[in-house]
Amino acid sequence: MTTPAPDTITAPVPAIELRDVRAGYGRIEVLHGVTLSVPQGCVYALLGPNGAGKSTTLLTLGGQVRPTAGCVHIAGAHVNGAAPEKLAKAGACRIPEGRGIFPNLTVAENLRVWTYATNDSPADVEEKAFQRFPVLRERRGQVAGTLSGGEQQMLALSRALVADPEILLLDEISMGLAPLIVGSLYEVVAQLAAGGITILLVEQFARTALAVADYAAVMTQGVIAAVGEPADVEDFVQEAYLGGVA
Ligand code: ATP
Repeated sequence: MTTPAPDTITAPVPAIELRDVRAGYGRIEVLHGVTLSVPQGCVYALLGPNGAGKSTTLLTLGGQVRPTAGCVHIAGAHVNGAAPEKLAKAGACRIPEGRGIFPNLTVAENLRVWTYATNDSPADVEEKAFQRFPVLRERRGQVAGTLSGGEQQMLALSRALVADPEILLLDEISMGLAPLIVGSLYEVVAQLAAGGITILLVEQFARTALAVADYAAVMTQGVIAAVGEPADVEDFVQEAYLGGVA
């Protein structure tokens, strides 16, 4: 009988893994061989300047963009170009850039839509969301498209509370929001992380993301330029953003 190598016994499966992934839009390749491994139960920030390929990486993880080469794994399952149901089955939930809410439905109706993916009653789902974001209770009957940007993002994040995922993919939750609101949204991110879920967040505001992240990767021009703990990547962040918003 052969004895397995020690690391095959002890190494836990990464929550998210991309191996040499190439992907893009039509003939335009945007990801030129992205390799990334996100350990279970951590907050992992994917940073980089505009156009680096961060959102494309999340779209590739979410199955909306199919890799032309390489492998995408979520919780050990091969999900290259997989349908959202397969992603959900693997325990992942993606909150897209631009918030992913239904603007013509009320807050309550948006929450009810997400109820279909859970075993919870609409009342339980509302309670979960309203406990975390009390302002949404006041806005319960308001059409989501007329909420403030911060309120819309709270509603979008409520989906993560409702779906109760093991892995959460967050795309630029701070986009277009005032720093105070961004701070309170990131408090929620930290609370979700404390509950043990794995969070991969794409963020342009590096400092905000690094404050909650356990690890970070810096992306430039479709490749990963650096990975490490926040202190390890700070210099790369400065360089990547050329003294910009970091
Ligand atoms: P940002 O921080 O500005 O959102 P990003 O790092 O998320 O940037 P991506 O949105 O992934 O970058 O874009 C990477 C490149 O892919 C850019 O050059 C962009 O113009 C291009 N791109 C993105 N979406 C499409 C699309 N649907 N069709 C063609 N090209 C696209």
